[in-house]
Amino acid sequence: MNRTTRPRLRGLSEAQIRGFACLRCARPLADDTAVDLPRERLRLADHRFWWCPRVCRDHVEAGPAGAATLVEAPAPGP
Ligand SMILES: [Zn+2]
Repeated sequence: MNRTTRPRLRGLSEAQIRGFACLRCARPLADDTAVDLPRERLRLADHRFWWCPRVCRDHVEAGPAGAATLVEAPAPGP
């Protein structure tokens, strides 16, 4: 099974954080091309909020109970 590796919030664009662009490749997402990942409870400074990251279909595989699982990013080059 692939380990899920999710980018940290830091370094993501606003569009990626808001779910308008792919978390992995930053391509703009449309409702028919986007896959919702399981939401996460995040804490930023003193604020807690739910984050609902989205990615292209290329980056997910079906996990247990049909939940989308982020596939491991290709290893960076040498
Ligand atoms: Zn993508």
